[in-house]
Amino acid sequence: MLTPLVPVNLPSIYNGQPLPARMARASKDFAAALADLSARLPKLRWSDLFRSYEMQKQANLDYLQGRKKAFSPPAGGSLHEAGRAMDIDLSTIGMSLADFWAYLKPLGMVPIIAQPNPGTSEAWHFEFRGSHQLVYDYAAAGHVRADISPYKQAAVSAILGLGIHVDQVKDQNVALVQSALIRLGYDPGPIDGDPGGRTVAALQQAGATLDTAEGVLAPRLQETFPQEF
Ligand SMILES: [Zn+2]
Repeated sequence: MLTPLVPVNLPSIYNGQPLPARMARASKDFAAALADLSARLPKLRWSDLFRSYEMQKQANLDYLQGRKKAFSPPAGGSLHEAGRAMDIDLSTIGMSLADFWAYLKPLGMVPIIAQPNPGTSEAWHFEFRGSHQLVYDYAAAGHVRADISPYKQAAVSAILGLGIHVDQVKDQNVALVQSALIRLGYDPGPIDGDPGGRTVAALQQAGATLDTAEGVLAPRLQETFPQEF
């Protein structure tokens, strides 16, 4: 059920040189969209695409201890850790931020702030959620407890999908199955790694058990979201 990260070649915000290899990685579907965007707007400059567990943990510490102004969530809470986010130097977009939003939308890239105001923190941050948007929508539609953030559920889903450890879930494999079930339209409850009654019932509906889930669900995920595999 795991999806790959692939290398990307994009100019860095620091000096226009290629992004350092450790951050120049993206999910396969995002990498394809980035190649397209970069060819259309060759002046764009990027910073972080991918952050490893350790890099995200450090970014959060830097924020908490005041070395970094921009908010960085703890590891397990950012789509950067799934190779599905990008930070762009807004001075290189060559159009207004509102126009840039409209430009990115058909490419599947979305902002995370409410209004296109370039002075807002995180105005530079965009995401490509792919099938994990369905997890976001599932949580936002009230299918999980109200205290569970749709954004974090989407991030957990996307990070687990790469086979990367997430501290916040009880069992990585159960959580991965829950993520697959939601993206295939079932109702297993939140992605928490706890195989409760709702998850078991959703598995039953899908014609699987926890033991057979990989074999049953993986081919269906690949068929439904071929661009991600
Ligand atoms: Zn960012």
